[in-house]
Amino acid sequence: MAAADVLNKYWADSNGEIPLPVDATIIAERLGAEVFAGDLSQEDNDLSGFIYIPPSGPPQITINSTDHIHRRRFTCAHEVGHMLDVRGNQLREGGFVDRRDTMSSAGTDPREVFANAFAATLLMPSDEVEWLAEELDLYGLARRFRVSTDAMQNRLDTLGLRPLG
Ligand SMILES: [Zn+2]
Repeated sequence: MAAADVLNKYWADSNGEIPLPVDATIIAERLGAEVFAGDLSQEDNDLSGFIYIPPSGPPQITINSTDHIHRRRFTCAHEVGHMLDVRGNQLREGGFVDRRDTMSSAGTDPREVFANAFAATLLMPSDEVEWLAEELDLYGLARRFRVSTDAMQNRLDTLGLRPLG
């Protein structure tokens, strides 16, 4: 399922509008996953989160509770991407451990590239970004979508948009 379809099916309100900011934790739960938060920094400072998708039963997502809220939100959206990727490819099970480097926009692993693109599209839907880029500057947009300015700038670049200011 593409991110836009997930938004329409699991996040849009009864008028078909997309409430902002998008909350990937709620979407993950509506898709049947269990989402946990834990202090992962003691084990590995760069660990953002992980997901295990068992052969049966709910996928389990764990997010590093010590990360900044922007990062936690992006990690959760990224894990939802992994979950739908595994299900969409009808794999029996899947597991991903996400560190700062696997989630970097410079990464080349196709599974990670997919999850990153999915997360960006889920948290910053193209129509909403396009509309709001006519009224807000980069900081206003980042606040509205509740993402980092880096993530917002990447998304604007992907869509070929320039915000006000
Ligand atoms: Zn990943």
